[in-house]
Amino acid sequence: MDMNSKVALVTGSSRGIGRTIALKLAREGYRVAVNYYNNPQEAPERIKENQEQAQEVLQEIEAAGSSGIVLGADVSDPAMARELVEAVIKEYGQIDVLVNNAGINKDQLILRIKDEEWDKLINTNLSSAFYCCREALKQMVRKRYGRIINISSVVGLSGNAGQAHYAASKSGLLGLTFSIAREYGVRGITANVIAPGYIQSDMTAGFSPEQKEKMLSAIALGRLGTPEDIAGVVVFLASDAAAYLTAQVIKVDGGMS
Ligand code: NAP
Repeated sequence: MDMNSKVALVTGSSRGIGRTIALKLAREGYRVAVNYYNNPQEAPERIKENQEQAQEVLQEIEAAGSSGIVLGADVSDPAMARELVEAVIKEYGQIDVLVNNAGINKDQLILRIKDEEWDKLINTNLSSAFYCCREALKQMVRKRYGRIINISSVVGLSGNAGQAHYAASKSGLLGLTFSIAREYGVRGITANVIAPGYIQSDMTAGFSPEQKEKMLSAIALGRLGTPEDIAGVVVFLASDAAAYLTAQVIKVDGGMS
């Protein structure tokens, strides 16, 4: 492994879209920090499973000829998010690419959303990206190089019944990203958003056949997206080919919107 190769941190990459992003970046030659959800207040079995999944991702990274580290953190917690970024910089001396992917969803009509549910969605999907960006930017500014890629959702552009807190968190990522692009563009840092449509993952696995049929009828390409569809765009945004692309929202939704 080339010790000069770029370093990427992907939050929430023990499974789902984040896992595929981490693996794709590794295959492209990046050294990758794999973050899994870990919080001391959580059930130990859940954390053990997450850690094992993250270790499997690392094994696949190494099998692809790259290298990486596995780091547990709850990125919705400011101290843990800061320590996560610090740990990557301690290990590699740099973060070139930050992919804020960690996210949760819990459909609920506005009248039924409890305060703590609202806070949890916003903290996990939006504040986490702010915490990680704030910390990573310090080092990116010094190096005058950085690629920030925030994983939003098409729902953040349109809103959706039953997803007010999710949509608000995903819209918030746009404002955060555009502001980073304006503040740090002259320092060689780009910041962009990927807005996936419906992607095959645990998040969409629970849909009923009727819901799936309705979804498919709205998608020009006639299929759900795959995690690879998202990872390919991440690799592009991280590459030199995207050097002049910042403050953009790329909808990866098969033509749905
Ligand atoms: P997923 O399968 O549920 O995976 C999400 C990952 O994030 C899991 O590994 C999860 O950990 C982790 N995570 C959640 N909260 C975290 C926290 N506080 N700290 C660290 N890690 C945390 O979801 P996905 O479908 O891959 O989605 C990935 C991203 O794409 C999300 O931001 C999502 O909103 C966005 N997105 C997805 C779709 C879709 O159709 N799937 C569409 C649009 C946007 P655990 O394993 O412990 O749960």
